[in-house]
Amino acid sequence: MRVILASSNKGKIKEIQDILGVEAVPYKDILPDVVIKESGKSFKENALIKAKTIYDALNDPEAIVIADDSGISVPALGGEPGIYSARYVGKGASDKENLAKLIQKLKEKGITRTPAYYTAAIAIVGKDMEQTVHGWMWGEVIDEARGDKGFGYDPMFIPEGFEQTLGELEGSVKRRISHRSKALELAKIVLKRIG
Ligand code: IMP
Repeated sequence: MRVILASSNKGKIKEIQDILGVEAVPYKDILPDVVIKESGKSFKENALIKAKTIYDALNDPEAIVIADDSGISVPALGGEPGIYSARYVGKGASDKENLAKLIQKLKEKGITRTPAYYTAAIAIVGKDMEQTVHGWMWGEVIDEARGDKGFGYDPMFIPEGFEQTLGELEGSVKRRISHRSKALELAKIVLKRIG
């Protein structure tokens, strides 16, 4: 089975390979010029757009393409940043800038701590086949950054059942409870079925 990942994020690629136990090729290695437009209105739609764009460009019916789309949602802010997590400040914004904006938004509302959740949608696309699976991680966001582990919004996110942020907790803890790990465990079942 030839598995291609519709991602260029090294951290994600390693995580996906480790959990799925498959040797997968990042699409940039084969299709350096393909541009993926994340025009969907949900994590699921965006994951499917990414996977289908790469599948169509590959022109290899036997290939399997895996794509993920993820982000954090804060109900007290109407679900922000949600699908815009990677571009909260704007296109090309850094993780640090996006984190600072979310902290600022909480401060503007006088919120020091409020429920939040991460979502990961994973799309698996092959010949005559489209599947999507999801995983979630619930917890709370706080109006400050603590710790430097993880990435993105991790320094302000306290997972349910813990008192430290994902910036302070060991990576092994996050791998056990994360939205992406949960979605990948389901993706593993789909991949086993197809082959
Ligand atoms: P994507 O690469 O288009 O799926 O965007 C994912 C964005 O959501 C990242 O840039 C982060 O801002 C955020 N995000 C998703 N998963 C995580 C996580 O596990 N920790 C921290 N931030 C995350």
